[in-house]
Amino acid sequence: MSMHPMVLLVGAGPGDPGLLTVAGRDALTSCSTVIYDALANPELLRLAPPKAELIYVGKQANRHTLTQDEINQLLVSKWQQQRALADAKSVWGNVVRLKGGDPYVFGRGGEEGQYLAAYEVPFRVIPGITSGIAGPAYAGIPVTHRDFTSSVTLITGHQQDANAAAGLNFEALAKLNGTLVFYMGVKTLPTLAANLIAAGMDAQMPAAIIHRATLPNQKTYRSDLQQLCDDDFCDQIAPPAITIIGRVAGLSAELNWFEQRPLFGKTVLVTRTRQQAGELSRRLLELGAEVIEAPTIELAPPSDPTAVIEAIGRMPQVDMAIFTSVNGVHAVWDNLLQTGRDARSLPRRVVAVGPSTAAALRQMGIIADLMPEEFTSDKIAQTIQTHLGDVAGWRIMLLRAEIARPALRTGLEQARAVVEDVAMYQTRPPAVLASEAVAALSENRIDLITFTSASTARNLFQLLSPPLREKVCGIPKLSIGPVTTQALGSLGWNLHLTEATEHDIPGMLAALEK
Ligand code: SAH
Repeated sequence: MSMHPMVLLVGAGPGDPGLLTVAGRDALTSCSTVIYDALANPELLRLAPPKAELIYVGKQANRHTLTQDEINQLLVSKWQQQRALADAKSVWGNVVRLKGGDPYVFGRGGEEGQYLAAYEVPFRVIPGITSGIAGPAYAGIPVTHRDFTSSVTLITGHQQDANAAAGLNFEALAKLNGTLVFYMGVKTLPTLAANLIAAGMDAQMPAAIIHRATLPNQKTYRSDLQQLCDDDFCDQIAPPAITIIGRVAGLSAELNWFEQRPLFGKTVLVTRTRQQAGELSRRLLELGAEVIEAPTIELAPPSDPTAVIEAIGRMPQVDMAIFTSVNGVHAVWDNLLQTGRDARSLPRRVVAVGPSTAAALRQMGIIADLMPEEFTSDKIAQTIQTHLGDVAGWRIMLLRAEIARPALRTGLEQARAVVEDVAMYQTRPPAVLASEAVAALSENRIDLITFTSASTARNLFQLLSPPLREKVCGIPKLSIGPVTTQALGSLGWNLHLTEATEHDIPGMLAALEK
């Protein structure tokens, strides 16, 4: 970090949030302000500190669009604010100007840099991966290849101005015999293509147009120069799109790893808790799906926090603790640490229900004595008896969510254990369902819905209007285990339902592969 605030012109990459540079990520995680465009993936904004000011300056329907001059002025004034804070020895941060792709490739980043220089605002450039290189790569097209081309030319064909094409030297472009990459509007493509043919380029020259390159809903239109002349063909393609003309554009089949991933083209609605690590979402994304997350549960502190603190104080005296969820593990640890204690305050025997819970304990340095395979509560008591001996007379602490499955407690009590039930946290449905999820359901865009607990099912039901509940009936559903399946059934959602054999997230993914 420098001693004074600066403006950082940061390339956001082409769309896939993973294609941000490490320097770009560092800039975002420590900034005070982000001024961003439509093409910068909004997911990257989550990297900024919660207190950072996020200012959108891109084009959007119904909103005033800032002119380039207004953006330039905004950069300077936001920097001045930070400068004033620094002068007052107050907390300050850099101003990030986040631009799609690379800031200096058709992004007017050069003009912004010049303006900043004129106002003596210190700035840095953090390059990004440009869409004209990454887009083709994600569509199976290397922009150069020793056998086909030795040059690549980045060209802009302006959207607003069909005459902009007139400024290009088509004879020179045709003679290059290399790869041509066109940024901007598809509207000008027919003119561009006709000009290239007139300048002597082969009308059969392969071409590819990549819409929303590197994003889960990327779509590639393969064609040739002749077809690009057709207005009807080009009109069907929405922005943003990158056009590649050249022999490499014909290569894609064997190199098209991105579009050949198993779930490419599928949209999955993942019902989840807000705090839950997005492991399922991440894995689905890797498999190529477009993931829409619908938080259906919010974690909240337990209704009786004092009871929890007291219970945790008694933990060293009990014979066994049973953790039933990852959230429960985290809640206990937060409580221990807040009161200056650590894992040594746990009882001698620790049981984790399910592999994810066991993994959460392992992260805390605790290997569970037993990890019951079966998620079904009534079998857990049995399993414990089989492996850890007769529990008669044992004091067992059940560290769980406020909504409990009584079967576990009953099973242990039948075995004459003394069970203390501690509600570590409560879960509740959020006020509304994420608008993106509502839109996707309404437009019939969802191919699969995943449920990782009974409450995700019940809460989704609560959050949906009757017509949308009806739609869910017809959509394939994936359940983590029998308890969730049962909940789905009682909601009338038992059609098109698959249940994971292993009741955890890897198990769900395995079920999906089948
Ligand atoms: N600085 C950006 C380009 C800005 S110009 C970069 O380096 O990528 C805007 C044009 O970039 C769009 O009209 C489109 O042609 C292209 N573009 C940017 N992101 C894109 C994406 N994800 N998919 C397809 N084209 C994209």
